[in-house]
Amino acid sequence: MSEQVRQESVGVQTGETLVDVNGLKTYYDDGGIIDSNPVKAVDGVDFEIKRGETLGLVGESGCGKTTLGRTLIQLEDATAGEVLFDGTDVTELSGTELKNWRRNSQMVFQDPESSLNDRMTVGEIIREPLDVHDWETPQERRERVRELLDVVGLQPEHYYRYPHQFSGGQRQRIGIARALALEPEFVVLDEPVSALDVSVQAQILNLLEDLQDEFGLTYLFIAHDLSVVRHICDRVAVMYLGNVMELGETEEMFANPKNPYTHSLLSAIPEPDPTADKERVTLRGTPPSPRDPPAGCPFTTRCPMKIRPEKYEDIDPDLWVAIEVFREVLRERARAEKSLTEIAKEKLGMETRFSDIDEIRTELFGDLDVPSRVREHVEVAANHVEQNDEHAAREYLADEFGSICDAEDPSMHVVSDTGRTSNCHRHLPDYQEPDEFTPYTER
Ligand code: SF4
Repeated sequence: MSEQVRQESVGVQTGETLVDVNGLKTYYDDGGIIDSNPVKAVDGVDFEIKRGETLGLVGESGCGKTTLGRTLIQLEDATAGEVLFDGTDVTELSGTELKNWRRNSQMVFQDPESSLNDRMTVGEIIREPLDVHDWETPQERRERVRELLDVVGLQPEHYYRYPHQFSGGQRQRIGIARALALEPEFVVLDEPVSALDVSVQAQILNLLEDLQDEFGLTYLFIAHDLSVVRHICDRVAVMYLGNVMELGETEEMFANPKNPYTHSLLSAIPEPDPTADKERVTLRGTPPSPRDPPAGCPFTTRCPMKIRPEKYEDIDPDLWVAIEVFREVLRERARAEKSLTEIAKEKLGMETRFSDIDEIRTELFGDLDVPSRVREHVEVAANHVEQNDEHAAREYLADEFGSICDAEDPSMHVVSDTGRTSNCHRHLPDYQEPDEFTPYTER
């Protein structure tokens, strides 16, 4: 929304912080029998949201976006850190205080098909938060619902209909009306248009923008569709494995991403012109389990720009990928949730799937020209594996081929005049980006 419109409509000071998030963590401990590590869905994030702005939150599915959104409005308990709303840490609220504060922050859910109770009329659905908070008189609540129907572009006669009588777009309008019933300041929009047809998406996005202008709303807009984010968000936070990797003004970031993960993510946006010369970065593998994120940078196991030890800076990119994959295979196997049968087999000294190191070595290095200064280290690690000491193999490879990316959690660095921040060691003077970007190919 334009700054002018925002100021005129709600008379707020632009730039004023509404939500201030510091060191926020949300862990789930689901009591697994074999692996008792908690799932680190949100793993220490810091950011703020200005009053009246739309902050986008993007990243692959499972990166922690929705958990973060839910934690901000206290639908999930924070494990650590604070969420300050106008200076009040809402993670500390409980009972009546929490209930009263909840009026101020609401959520619109992704799936309008399942987020509305089909046994309630539209009027009852929208009125429910007013009833829960004992808002004014019953008659005033009914009037408020009629007003909200109008605000979101529905008709008065829709009051007595049921959700199944509506299209997806109309159902999302009902969800939005319900979220706005108590006049919140802050709304988490969790993939609000991704279940809708493209033409309906545009209508709902326009509605959200109009409502923001009219009521001075502040949005956290969670999405995986980057073109939608580009359209609607003032700033964007890019998440990976529970961490914010880059945060800054939308247009600037889309035009010139600074973090390797943002670069990969944005390179996957389809070009309207298929002949346009655009380099697409293919990331190998999948993100690691949030139950066992890597030490160091969260993106270290897949990063195409990972910092190498100086003595290996000159080796062939394909060979470097093979070394990285070799390390990742050993790491994956260490953390794999083994079945009870596998554990029993190990305990009984029977042969398990951990015996195929030769196959892995051939697969990864067989077609490559491997200089002896690399081969000797791969051999030592393979020998450790053969002797059933995978831990020693992993440690050996980490000592030989590891870098700051494996060992140290990067911190946020300011990377532009507008205050954009990026979570990457490449911004340190010693590790500036290489001139030539050599993305990994898929193996
Ligand atoms: S810190 Fe290293 S692994 Fe992480 S994004 Fe930067 S270059 Fe890649």
